[in-house]
Amino acid sequence: MKTIKIFDTTLRDGEQVPGAKLNADEKIIIARQLEKLNVDVIEAGFPSSSPGDAEAVKRIAKEIKTPVITGLSRAVKSDIDILWNSVRYADRPRIHIVLGSSDIHVKNKFRTDRKAVLAMAVAAVRHAASLCPDVEYSPEDATRSDIDYLCRVVREVIWAGATVVNIADTVGWAVPQEFGQLIQTIRKRVPETEGITLSVHCHNDCGLATANTLAAIKNGADQVEVTMNGIGERAGNAALEEVVMMLATRPDYYGAKTAVRTQEITLTSRMVQEMMHIPVQPNKAIIGGNAFRHSSGIHQDGILKAKDNYEIISPEMVGAVPHEFVLTARSGRHAVRHILESAGIKIDGNEFESVFRKFIEKADVQKEVSSQEVIQLVQ
Ligand SMILES: [Zn+2]
Repeated sequence: MKTIKIFDTTLRDGEQVPGAKLNADEKIIIARQLEKLNVDVIEAGFPSSSPGDAEAVKRIAKEIKTPVITGLSRAVKSDIDILWNSVRYADRPRIHIVLGSSDIHVKNKFRTDRKAVLAMAVAAVRHAASLCPDVEYSPEDATRSDIDYLCRVVREVIWAGATVVNIADTVGWAVPQEFGQLIQTIRKRVPETEGITLSVHCHNDCGLATANTLAAIKNGADQVEVTMNGIGERAGNAALEEVVMMLATRPDYYGAKTAVRTQEITLTSRMVQEMMHIPVQPNKAIIGGNAFRHSSGIHQDGILKAKDNYEIISPEMVGAVPHEFVLTARSGRHAVRHILESAGIKIDGNEFESVFRKFIEKADVQKEVSSQEVIQLVQ
């Protein structure tokens, strides 16, 4: 079983979300929780963006011991130096450099040519490698890049000292099958990638970030860049909880696992929602309010007979409260009886039928009936 490294960028890509900005104290609190969650890498910020962020990344580098600590930098010497001055205090520091590789970025953003951009990339990686033994290079917008040029960039940054190459689907352009193929092609055409960590970073503009990330894992990626609750620029990034729990649920298919302590997922998710002011929708996979609530009577009956009838992940596994029944007019006798018996109430025959009738009447009027209200019907 292969172990996939989890690179968490909640504190960098996630923090770019309008209104999600954290101060240094808040960043440290989330970083501590990410360490408990046991992610492999924490991208703590973008130090050259502001002195305050540089200071926050430095504090995280000094305090957080287990994960690799990194931050993002443009391929510019002065930015790399600022980043290094923040992460150098970590036990395991990493410099992460990003630079566009698609013609769209080369021509419209940098207004230059491929050759000049490649020279910038190599110079930046060489400089970073002279400071830090661990250097990650991200060809930005890799999925819209010319494949020959992309392979050349990947090869040359590895020669220059990159230890991690991160294929970024910056704009959410990729399709799972095609993205998996891209990872395979890079592995085949650049055998130098065998000696380094091959990573991916997927955005969710068309809702495919998790699917693309998983396709990359299936096709040879070693590291995935994710955020808690899938927050991030625009429509966000691949969600940590979705990728981790899919691997945990289907090791038979992926042949891969992570070191994440899944029981910490719910708590981490709540902290990020509250501190970064981005609540998730109730039907959000794994961490949404309804993720473990069953409302259909047929499902409630099935769950009471055997959990795995309708539950592929146990709530306890992600640190959530055990499965919850939402009682509606569609809930059956089995669910109502279960609620009463859980409260130590044993009634049968006509007595039970009359309570059940009252329950249906109430459910028709108010849509949802709480367990407490069911118990009151007996009293
Ligand atoms: Zn991103």
